[in-house]
Parts: sequence; structure tokens; C-alpha cells
Amino acid sequence: MGSDVHLSVTHLAHTNEIQMRDGRLYPVHRIYCVGRNFAAHAREMGGRPDRELPFFFSKPADAANQSSKIPYPPATVELHHEVELVVAIGQKGIDIPVSKALDHIYAYAVGVDLTRRDIQRQAKKLGRPWDMAKGFDYSAPVSKLVPAAEVGDASHLEIGIIVNGQQRQHSNTNQMIWNLAEIISALSRLVTLQAGDLIFTGTPEGVGSLVKGDEVVAEVAKLPKLSFRVV
Ligand code: MN
Repeated sequence: MGSDVHLSVTHLAHTNEIQMRDGRLYPVHRIYCVGRNFAAHAREMGGRPDRELPFFFSKPADAANQSSKIPYPPATVELHHEVELVVAIGQKGIDIPVSKALDHIYAYAVGVDLTRRDIQRQAKKLGRPWDMAKGFDYSAPVSKLVPAAEVGDASHLEIGIIVNGQQRQHSNTNQMIWNLAEIISALSRLVTLQAGDLIFTGTPEGVGSLVKGDEVVAEVAKLPKLSFRVV
């Protein structure tokens, strides 16, 4: 019975590699995302930012991509953009103290946490998981990665997104409720962080819908732009 099943597992075992600015490749192990890390965005989503500890969700590793064309996903009529600073972890860590957390950052990128907002809204209402709202194909576009040493201090960088030439989101990483070190420390108390883990660190206010044909440019100061078209 079982011997009648022939799976070609060699075609399943692969690593999703993304490019660094210098041409090297970074193998993506896992993708974690922080929810509601900018007060004004938390309020626009109906939350109360001053009362919430950081919380996390994840996307499949192969959602990370550097494609110039992002397919509009199925099963939604409300695809939202969330521009975020992305941290790429370079070394294993568990229970990382805040004082040591920045040492675990290997590189930075600009990312967009694409979200099926309609599915997320229903999931929240019904107390269901967010996976299908957040973790679909192509749901984590990222720019080329830049080594942390070349970026330096990332605690006060302008962050924004422009759609068809119009600014949609614009803020600064100094507006994060939980800073990068606190995020890494908190996450490392939930899972063992590993080299290859990407962390999307939360979006500022101004999230909104994307439709087919939209030209998207996501920016964080000191980092390469992330540009794609929704097709
Ligand atoms: Mn997000």
C-alpha cells in the first residue's frame, strides 16, 4: 500500500535564497513578523497600543522574494501594503538579552508585509488563525540585503511607501513601540532564533489597498529601494 506512493522528495528540499546588495546570497530559514509595532497603525487597526505586548506571526520561508512582478493573490478583494524594516538574523540565539540583541543582526532590508485584509478581518472576528491572511505566495517582497555594519544605527530611519507616485505611508523607525533589540529579545524567548531568520518589524500608519497594475516603491533610508508591480 504505502510502497505504491512515489514522492520525488529531492524536488521538495530546497532553500529560498535572496540576494544581498553585494551579490552574495542569504538563505531564508523562517519569516517572523511583529504585529502592531507603531502606535498610529495600531490605532488605525482598532488596537490600543499602550496596552499590548509585542506579538508575532509568521510566513512561509518561500514567501520572501525579490520579484519585480507580484501576482495579485487569489481569495481576496483587499490586498494591503505594509512597508516594514526587515532584520536578517546572522547567528543562533535563545533568551537573548536586550543588551546583546543587536549583535544577532546580520543585515537589513526593506520589506512589504502583503496582507489579505479582508481575510484577516474575518479571522479576527471568528478567532481564527491569520495564516491565510498573511502567509500566501509572494507575500513577503524584500529588497536586496545590506550588511548591518554598512547600515549602522537603524533606530531612526525614514520609512515609507509610494504607490503610483503617491506617498501612502511615511514615518520613522524611531516611532516603533518595541525597538529592534526588544523585538529580537522577545522573539528569542519564544523560539530559538537561527541564522537565516527574517523579522518584519512592523508597519507605520497609512496601510491601504493595492490593485493590479500598481507600481510600488518601498523605502527605508540607507537601504536599496524595493520596487515591484502588482500583476
Ligand atoms: Mn505587518
